[in-house]
Parts: sequence; C-alpha cells; structure tokens
Amino acid sequence: MLLASIGAMGSTDGVVLEDALQILQRVFGYPEFRGDQAAIVEHVVAGGDALVLMPTGGGKSLCYQVPSLVRPGTGVVISPLIALMQDQVDALRALGVRAGFLNSSLSWDERRTVEAEFVAGELDLLYLAPERLTSEATLRLLEQGEIALFAIDEAHCVSQWGHDFRPDYLSLTHLHERWPKVPRIALTATATEATRQEILTRLELTDGRQFVSSFDRPNIQYRIVPKKEPKKQLLDLLRGEHQGDAGIVYCLSRASVEKTAEFLVANGIPALPYHAGLDSSVRQRNQARFLREDGLVMVATIAFGMGIDKPDVRFVAHLDLPKSVEGYYQETGRAGRDGLPSTAWLAYGLQDVVQQRKMIESSEGDLAFRRRSQMHLDAMLALCETVTCRRTRLLEYFNESGVPCGNCDTCLTPPEAWDGTVAAQKVLSTVYRLRKERNQKFGAGQAIDILLGRKTAKVIQFDHDQLSTFGIGEDLSEGEWRGVVRQLLAQGLLAVEGEYSTLVLTEASAEVLSRKREVKMRKDPTPTRSTTRTASSPSGAAKVKIDLPADAGPLFEALREWRAGQAREQGVPAYVIFHDATLKSIAASRPGSLTALGAVSGVGQAKLTKYGEQILEVVAAGGAAPEAAAPAAVQAPRSKPKPPSSGGAAWGSGDAVDEWPEPEEPDEPMDW
Ligand code: ADP
Ligand code: ZN
Repeated sequence: MLLASIGAMGSTDGVVLEDALQILQRVFGYPEFRGDQAAIVEHVVAGGDALVLMPTGGGKSLCYQVPSLVRPGTGVVISPLIALMQDQVDALRALGVRAGFLNSSLSWDERRTVEAEFVAGELDLLYLAPERLTSEATLRLLEQGEIALFAIDEAHCVSQWGHDFRPDYLSLTHLHERWPKVPRIALTATATEATRQEILTRLELTDGRQFVSSFDRPNIQYRIVPKKEPKKQLLDLLRGEHQGDAGIVYCLSRASVEKTAEFLVANGIPALPYHAGLDSSVRQRNQARFLREDGLVMVATIAFGMGIDKPDVRFVAHLDLPKSVEGYYQETGRAGRDGLPSTAWLAYGLQDVVQQRKMIESSEGDLAFRRRSQMHLDAMLALCETVTCRRTRLLEYFNESGVPCGNCDTCLTPPEAWDGTVAAQKVLSTVYRLRKERNQKFGAGQAIDILLGRKTAKVIQFDHDQLSTFGIGEDLSEGEWRGVVRQLLAQGLLAVEGEYSTLVLTEASAEVLSRKREVKMRKDPTPTRSTTRTASSPSGAAKVKIDLPADAGPLFEALREWRAGQAREQGVPAYVIFHDATLKSIAASRPGSLTALGAVSGVGQAKLTKYGEQILEVVAAGGAAPEAAAPAAVQAPRSKPKPPSSGGAAWGSGDAVDEWPEPEEPDEPMDW
C-alpha cells in the first residue's frame, strides 16, 4: 500500500533511507527548502530543540513534518486547532504520509484504532490536542510507542498575556521531563520579544536554538483607509478587486458580523457568519464550507481563524480597529499563504478610537492590564496614522528594519503630512470652553458642529452659538474635522471619558493650547481604486490573477473545475488535492508527460500516481472544459434585531460628575 511504502522511508525500520531533501521532493513535491527550513530540519533531525518564529505562510509545518519522516518513530504534534486536525491529517494522507489524530471528536473505536497504530509504529505523525497531555492515560500511551519528536504548534498559546492563552499549554513542560532525549520544536507566527521570552522559559527551551525568520509577507498589500460608509467601501473592494475570491472580513461585534454577512449576501456575494454566539454546529459547518468551497467570504469576530491554513485566502478586511498590532498582523497574515498577491484592508475612523479607548477605560482588568492595553492600542493607532510605509512600521514592531516596500497604500499613494497645530488648537479650545467655562460635557459631534458654525437644535438649546469658537472652523469639512479629532485622540492630545464619550483635555493638550507643541497630522487621501492591480473584470475571469499568462486562464479554470470535482468526491478541501499555485504552474507550463508534470512544484509522488493521467487529459483538452458550475448557493444568515447603535446618542451630552486633568492656562489665550 502506498501509505506504508512512504512511511518505510525512515520511520519504521529506523534506517534513514532518504535524506530530508529527497523526502521534500518525493513526498511533498517541492524542489527545495525555503528560508530557514533546511537549517531547522537539519537541527531537529540531529536531535536538537528549536524555537521557530516564522510568519504565517512561511512554511512551518514542513519543519516538523520532514524530520518526523526522517527520524525513527512518530512525530507528535501538539496543536490547539482541534477543528482543523481532520483536514491536516487528510492533507498528509493525500501525500501518502501515515498520519492520525487524537481529540475529543473521535469515537471510542476510532480512538482505539489510532492508539493501536501509534503503538505498532505505523504512524509518521500523530496530532494531539493539548488537553490530552494533562491525562496520565495519554502519557502512558505515548510511552508505549517510539517518538521521533514533539512539535508544539501555535506555541504562543503558552503566553499568559497573549490573546490566545491556553492553560493546557502550561503542562507541556512535562514532556521534557518525561522524554528528555526527544527533540522538541516549538513554532509560532506571533512573536514580539516579550512573547518569545515567555515561550522559551515556560517551555524550558532556553537551551534550544532559535530560528527567527523575517516576518515580512511581501505578497500582502497593506491598506488602511478612512472609514466613511464601511459596508459600501467593503463592497467596492470585493467587487472591484476580489470578485469570486475567498476572504475573511473581521468585525468587532457579533451583531455587526451578522449584519455584514447579510449585507454581502443581499449584494450577491456568498458570505457566511462566524462568531462565538453561534451554535457550535453552525460554526463548524460554516468553517468547513469556507475551507472546502471556493470563493466564500467568512464574516467573523476574531474567534475565527487561528490556524486556518487555507492557502488561497485572497483578502482579509477589517471593518473595526484591531486591539493590537500583533493581533492585526496575525489576522491579516491569514491572507495569501500560497504566496500569491493578496490584500489586507482596514477601514478606520474616529469612532474606532473612541470605542477602543472606552473599552479599555471600562475594562475589568487591573491597572497593569489597562496600561498594557493602552500601549497596544497606541501602537495600532500609530500604524494607522503613519505617513510612512506601513510595512516598515509593522516590521519595526517585530524589531526588524526595512525599506519602503512599494506595496502598501502609503508607498503607493503617499499621504501628505500637514501642520495641524492651529486646527488642533481650535478643537482643544472648544473643548476647553465647554468644559472649563461652562462645565458641560459633549462629544465630538457637538464640538464639530460648533466649529462649523451649525445652528443645530442642540447648538441653540445650549447657546453654543455664543461661544467664541463658534464658526471658526469653516475652512475644513466635517470629514476633515473628524480626522483632526481622531488624530488628536490617537496622539493622546485629547481623551474621551464616561458613558457618553465626552471629550476631555489631557495634560498634553495644554502644551498645544499654550503653543509649546506643534501637531503633525496626516491628510487622509481621497480614496482611489486600487493602484497596482488592474481591477478584475466582473466575469469569472476575475479569478485569474496577473501572475498567470492570459492564454493560460481557461486551462487554469478547467483544472480548478477538475479539482472541485475531486474535492467533492473525497469530501476534502480543494487545496488538499492541489494548491492554486500548483494548478497555475501546470496551466502555464502545460506538461505533456508524467515526468514533466512531476517536475511541477507541489506535485509529489503520491499525487502524481493518483492524479497524473487525469491532469494530463485536462491539459490535453486545453481548457475547453465544460461550463464552470455556478458557485454553491449560500443561505442568507439568520437575521437578528438591529444591534445597539454605537454612534448617535454616544455623542450627546451627559451630566455625570467628572474628573479630568486640569490643563495649564495657556500662556496667551487664543483669540477665540
Ligand atoms: P505556516 O504553517 O508557516 O503558516 P505552511 O506550513 O502552511 O505555513 O506553509 C505555507 C505554504 O507554503 C503551504 O502552501 C506550503 O505547502 C508551502 N510551502 C512550504 N514550504 C515550501 C517549500 N519549501 N517549497 C514550496 N512550497 C512550500
Ligand atoms: Zn510600503
């Protein structure tokens, strides 16, 4: 049997019959290792411990999969991604690797089978949920077999301060105590210096070697746009550049997930909702569909995504501001694992800053927690407001330096910086008059109405047309004033407090009012359509990206069609059959023989044997395949009552007592 023949290459009889490179070529069909992979594989095969920091899509899996095939015994992979284990194992089996998993989803019989295979040395890889390792029964089971290595995937889950903390990860130190000779390789895509140190100490990996790759993801185009009508902006992005593509849209709240998914479906874009409030069977079904079907959009809270290794996610869109750069980078990193051009798009506005600041202020956490959250948010805001290359800023956050990338919005359309000192003074002065002189509490909306000299009912009611700042801001539009207030909040020159998001001055405001400090601002660029990528045509040809010769398009579509049929038949995600990148290479090179097909990156021995003839037939037919089937119908998600509005009333006045830093008197009061 095919499965047995590959396993015998190294694991069953303990003889290394092939070196790692040959396994890479034969089993995985890749011509060579990428980046640090070769060094990591060599180190682990030799029995060394390692911490591997690589961005999403960098190729971490091969770093433990290849050594598991080279070393005698079974590679034991600890992964928190229970829902994905089946797919991971299916993908390995499709390559002819003997893989299995143990988690709570298995029946008693299935579990016994996997356990027996492990003990008999018939598994190359065994995936385990971390909670299994807290049970003595599992540890005893592991003692009955031979272990090639322990791979600790998503190792940042051991970090108690991180966003993905899993208490069971803390028990992983026992592995080292019980199996001191078995090499351990910890892998993560999340790694600030602090997280890295925490992983090293908690997993007792300080003697291991660290492999830190560049975190750059050159194929992802980063774009952060001013938020105006976010759903419409999103729709423009999907229609203009990502018609027919798979992607993820992140929203902060469950309600906005539901509404956004409904909105997309109503506009003809197949979309599914995903959030922690949905029944777990619905969540699982939606996730499975997203992984299996082509061209679905998943609208989700951050509950969705860790470990989603779907390689052809073409865009990640954020409709709300992420809480930290680390989280943002991890979420956007889910785009473009296959290395093909992809988009990370974020719409960001004044309300986001207000909301996040408020959430931190009212959080249950202690002072240290709030301070840390504040620092995370400030770094995220600095990224949003930067006038320099986004990628350089992102990489700086991970202690890497870079040069302007040419593939982010600020590089493509450099925003102008402007001296916003006077505008800042106008806003701060208005807040000063409201708070200090009148002891009133108002939000940004009222301050902007005052600056614009609008005689709204509320302006009249509170006599705000009598303020000296009334009408002094007619030189800027409402949108521009919102941009000014947003940037003042982002820079800590203004703050919000209380239930109604009242604007208050900070100590730093005084420096601006007293002309001791200048304020640099970013001019929000007027939105233009994508600058680098030609907007795709609305037809099915939209799926064909620029990296494919134009005449290869029909063949690529025909190959996708063939792949979809296979995936349906076998009940596995399409990428388990072949990745897009592989199909594109085939479409571009039109191999005429099995040998030529076998040379294409991503076509390993098992797949060549299984699919070779069929693919050659599709190629010979030259893309004159039957009409592409219409994408599967997507049900509109359940509708829910309208969520509580986060705008409107939040900007009104309040009457709670307040405590706020008293600003210094300006040296010379402003004229207004
Ligand atoms: P990670 O776990 O780091 O996010 P994966 O292990 O899922 O990344 O790999 C990302 C993609 O890159 C996968 O599609 C994988 O098949 C591909 N890949 C990894 N290593 C290589 C290589 N040496 N040559 C070609 N493709 C590779
Ligand atoms: Zn750039």
